[in-house]
Amino acid sequence: MEIYEKAPAKINLGLDVLYKRADDYHELKMVMASVDLADHLKIESLPTDEIIVTSNKAFLPVDKRNNVYQAAEILKKRYQIQKGVKITIEKRIPVAAGLGGGSSDCAAALRGLNRLWDLGLSMDELIEIGMQVGTDVPFCLHGTTAKISGKGEIVEPIVSMPQCWVVLVKPRISVSTRKIFQIVDATQLEHVPIDDLIAAIEAQDYQAMIANMGNNLESVTIQKYPVVQKMKDKMLKFGADVAMMSGSGPTVFALCQKYSRAQRIYNALKGFCEEVYLVRTLP
Ligand code: ATP
Repeated sequence: MEIYEKAPAKINLGLDVLYKRADDYHELKMVMASVDLADHLKIESLPTDEIIVTSNKAFLPVDKRNNVYQAAEILKKRYQIQKGVKITIEKRIPVAAGLGGGSSDCAAALRGLNRLWDLGLSMDELIEIGMQVGTDVPFCLHGTTAKISGKGEIVEPIVSMPQCWVVLVKPRISVSTRKIFQIVDATQLEHVPIDDLIAAIEAQDYQAMIANMGNNLESVTIQKYPVVQKMKDKMLKFGADVAMMSGSGPTVFALCQKYSRAQRIYNALKGFCEEVYLVRTLP
């Protein structure tokens, strides 16, 4: 039996680091949305009792360090599955880019294995397992648009963001989320009006949405990697309605209501960067 699952990337429309908690994690308040740039997973039964993960990107670990491998291992142990599985990841989402690719792959693997092994697990059960692998997995299980809080594990789906075009650019650097959180001083950050952002999305008010978007990790990442600011400036110069870093970076995205503008930004950035994408938001 073969199962196919899509694992879409996410962008942060809002990211507010509130404070550092006693357990050393940061308390976050965010709005995330899925976009139509996705990895593709093929999940198939194996006659031998083993987990095999492969991918089209040679640099990606395919052993226990891979989120997909971890998802399969947890399910196999917990539900005493004595069958093997091969998971092939066709990676399209840039890695270590702030687009949640690894978490989305994990969520897709959990959904697919739930079907392959006929486990009948509920969304809450999948979330509880996904949280053991990564904090963005709960959002990726829900998908579309959601408010996220806690250290990233509390997900409240909201109405989908107003549909628009999204141009994504990933500069040729990789940013470690862990390292950015190690250097951030939450007391020095300007806060993002997440509640106003959510109200704008709920009212489907595109202009109010872009006016209230913000990511207070942007200044932290830009200090280390000025290329992020350069990409933002270029996107705005070429006509973006708004340009912002996703997650801890380094990917910058632009939103446009008009396709012609999105295309202009895409063409302009193609001259500077290899990894540029023009996609839609996911309804
Ligand atoms: P986060 O913000 O959670 O760090 P990200 O989008 O910035 O997410 P990912 O693409 O998820 O970054 O990759 C982060 C790290 O996770 C990489 O160093 C990569 O080696 C590891 N990883 C493990 N499994 C996967 C996977 N299936 N796809 C991508 N990266 C993976």
